[in-house]
Amino acid sequence: MNIKDEFDTITAIATPVGMGGVGVIRISGDKAFDIIKKIFTNPNFEPRKFNHGWIVDDGKKIDEVIVLPFFAPNSYTGEDVIEIQCHGGVNVVKNILNLVLKNDARMAEKGEFTKRAFLNKRMDLSQAEAVADIIHSKTSEFAKTSVKNLSGVLKEGVNDIRNQIFEVLSKITAGIDFPEDVKEPEYDYLISSFENIISSIDKVLAGANTSNIFRQGASVAIIGKPNVGKSSLFNALLSLDRAIVTDIAGTTRDVIKETLDLGIPVTLIDTAGIRENGENKVENIGIEYSKQSLDEADLVLFVYDASQGITEEDKEVFGLLKDKKYILIANKSDIAEKKSDNDSVYISALTGEGVSELKQKLTAQVCDINPENLDFVTNTRQQECLRKAKASIEQALLASQLRELQDLISIDVKSAILALDELTGELITDDILNNIFDHFCIGK
Ligand code: GDP
Repeated sequence: MNIKDEFDTITAIATPVGMGGVGVIRISGDKAFDIIKKIFTNPNFEPRKFNHGWIVDDGKKIDEVIVLPFFAPNSYTGEDVIEIQCHGGVNVVKNILNLVLKNDARMAEKGEFTKRAFLNKRMDLSQAEAVADIIHSKTSEFAKTSVKNLSGVLKEGVNDIRNQIFEVLSKITAGIDFPEDVKEPEYDYLISSFENIISSIDKVLAGANTSNIFRQGASVAIIGKPNVGKSSLFNALLSLDRAIVTDIAGTTRDVIKETLDLGIPVTLIDTAGIRENGENKVENIGIEYSKQSLDEADLVLFVYDASQGITEEDKEVFGLLKDKKYILIANKSDIAEKKSDNDSVYISALTGEGVSELKQKLTAQVCDINPENLDFVTNTRQQECLRKAKASIEQALLASQLRELQDLISIDVKSAILALDELTGELITDDILNNIFDHFCIGK
């Protein structure tokens, strides 16, 4: 993103382009009110009051609209903002946008409104990133957690840690700068402080894997020899009949994928029964796909037929899993006589017995903590900053245990603070900033 003048007036369509009830055009910057005065029939604005009127181009009516004024600094971007709510047809929205552009606004870049909100200190970087997460969230659970970040939960958590580190740094610095008046802090104090800081960082990092799964989703492959009920399980999990179930071995020939919302987005992959030396060519292709799906999968649901027990053929297929995480599923529990294998989850894809327990187990296996208990979502950039901070504090801890000079210890403590400042955006390079806002959509 290349912004020539950071504070010129920008505009964009804020709603998806297409037919809808309402379309919104946003204008932000010093000239927002000048522009609207030229193209709107009712431009005497008061704070917190919207005006009704017509957008006009040289006296020609374009659309009947409602205009919402936001006076700086009380707006999303912190600048003067105008939002025009017009009828939601593609052309009317574009006509108004063109009129605004003609009157001296510039088309906004991706994420530029939110970038301005950040630059004008209306939100910190973790909040700005939460905006992108909310827009892109694939599950309602993720949207809810992202909202917590938007309200500043992550920011507060990180600031608490920063304050803890800052307090230690102040004590060390005072001891170094005023050796006659201030005693340097005891090493035991440093050790216990650093241990506490590390555990605070660990708490924020605890949900990192779950956060990543929230964002990217998890791939779960259903694997097993033919006819054990993989397609039936796929359907039972999705509660639909997309995969074709038959009782002839080897009839699921393609790889079928569906997204399942378990709070986290799970891509469920039903594969052709893996069977070495399949004679049928079409099935052989399916077998290749299965192996690929297996490579991609974060977790495997390994299915066998509980009425037959684990056979040699099952063991062969199981061998393909290598070191993948898996859940052992004994299907057809409704017709099985023995249900004694404690390592297996007994289910019946046919009757639905055990399927909801399986869903719970599946969520627990792919997430490091229960998504419902997740207070923060972190993204990989934020996790990287937290890990950097943690590594520096670990160094400081080690140095304190070795009773090294506090001058030296303070260097690591300062690095930890810088890493956290990078997370909140207090200290950030243009490259990182542009990379973040490039992932937004235009109009946000
Ligand atoms: P796949 O080849 O592994 O995908 O197996 P399918 O899902 O096509 O199922 C093979 C056969 O087993 C079908 O006749 C299913 O109706 C039957 N089947 C699947 N799950 C169960 C189950 O839990 N209980 C019983 N009794 N039959 C099942």
